Amino acid sequence: MFKYGFLLFLFGKCMSQAAENIHFFNTLSRKKEKFIPIEKGKVKMYTCGPTVYDYAHIGNFRSFLFEDILRRWLEYRGFQVTQVMNLTDVDDRTIAASKKEGIPLKEHTGKYVKAFFEDLDTLHVQRASIYPRATEHIPEMVALIKKLMEKGYGYVGEDGSIYYKIAKFKNYGQLSKFKVAELKVGARVKVDEYDKEQAQDFALWKAWDEGDGDVFWETEIGKGRPGWHIECSAMSMKYLGETLDIHTGGVDNMFPHHENEIAQSEAATGKKFVNYWMHCEHLMVEGKRMGKRFGNYYTVQDLTKKLKHDPRAVRYLLISTHYRQQFNFTFAGLEAAKNVVDRLVNFMYRLLDADGKDCGEETQLLMMQVNKSFGEAMDDDLNIGIALAALFDFVRDINNLIDVGKLSRRKANEVYAMMLGFDKVLGVIGDVRKEEKLPKEAEELIRRREEARKAKDWKTADQIRLQLQAMGITIQDTPQGIKWRIEKHQTNPTKNDSHM
Ligand code: AMP
Ligand code: ZN
Repeated sequence: MFKYGFLLFLFGKCMSQAAENIHFFNTLSRKKEKFIPIEKGKVKMYTCGPTVYDYAHIGNFRSFLFEDILRRWLEYRGFQVTQVMNLTDVDDRTIAASKKEGIPLKEHTGKYVKAFFEDLDTLHVQRASIYPRATEHIPEMVALIKKLMEKGYGYVGEDGSIYYKIAKFKNYGQLSKFKVAELKVGARVKVDEYDKEQAQDFALWKAWDEGDGDVFWETEIGKGRPGWHIECSAMSMKYLGETLDIHTGGVDNMFPHHENEIAQSEAATGKKFVNYWMHCEHLMVEGKRMGKRFGNYYTVQDLTKKLKHDPRAVRYLLISTHYRQQFNFTFAGLEAAKNVVDRLVNFMYRLLDADGKDCGEETQLLMMQVNKSFGEAMDDDLNIGIALAALFDFVRDINNLIDVGKLSRRKANEVYAMMLGFDKVLGVIGDVRKEEKLPKEAEELIRRREEARKAKDWKTADQIRLQLQAMGITIQDTPQGIKWRIEKHQTNPTKNDSHM
């Protein structure tokens, strides 16, 4: 008893120390830095959300899943995270797409917002604290633009649009690493997306033109619509304050989007906008970035509904490569991911069945080791590859103990609880106890078998058992009553399975 208490004490100590020892790669400094939040125990995190002009593809979801893992990890370490993810429901792309379809903007984007939330649920992405829509924050954007004009950072161009004067902001280029002196001073760009070589004064507010159709707002700064970048500055600062702990997005967001967000926000407030910038590398297809414009993409629905792939495998595939490394999407990779997920789920079933002799200390040691290795790896800039390797070693070792009848019921419960803890971060296994639900037909058969047994009609009882077996359901009569299980998973993986 004393020993066990002592080990728990050590676990607790490990957890709290690790919370103090998280390091993230900050794109701003291009270095790993110790993570220190502005307010102890709390994290303010802003995430660039989807542009809802079409279905998001799994490349977009790679970024959203990185953000999900980041948030889950911070929560695992005890932080209270406020995550804001915007929905870009007005910009060049949404207007062009709704025009092409001949559908009003709100109706068009509404369809894809709905699909986005469905996809989040399919991939077990935890909901952010709030999902502000750009179209619902026009007054905040106008106020911010007015402030920038008052301070001399915003000016009106010949077309009536309002532009940001990048030459006035000394630190322009700090995120993308280029110097204002090398830029085309005075040249202007009105589109939302452009290359680094085209860095110019960008549009804060776009004066209405025919191309915008009925998408405009009549405001103090004229009839028009916001530029894409001002949307995120206004919404992030409204919900999280003038300085955020973490701002995330995919690497393509770094320029011009995030560079411009910094320029707008810091010029307006005079304060540092973001302490830690974190960017997710691209999901690729045959060496090329997955993207709508390349036509090389799959949506979540393509994979899970049309092609019937397990959503957990899709999730596992997208989270299992370190977020700062590119990787190629392949169907072979998806199959391999499915195998890993099945083995993890299968392990949980084995734990539920384990009933061996006590080998407490050995199990306890393995639990401490995996807790430490998994935690240290994730604290080190979310090094999920190492964390998963530690987990697979653990699963293999515990499987070996089960094979030789050395995992007691009590210890198996502890391991099960620990696996659920890791899965709070990974989100790929689930609590298999909750998942199993008997089909109605099987429930009825079990009831009839009970009746037969009470009547000592062993022949009927056996027949029903066989019938259930044919349906893939095994039953066991125990002193506590009937136990049943759906045999959709193999119960005894061979010891030399890869990974575990
Ligand atoms: P969008 O809907 O285009 O605004 O993109 C939503 C998020 O997906 C942004 O954070 C992008 O940087 C990110 N993203 C776009 N393409 C990819 C990709 N191939 N791999 C990873 N992230 C991506
Ligand atoms: Zn954004």
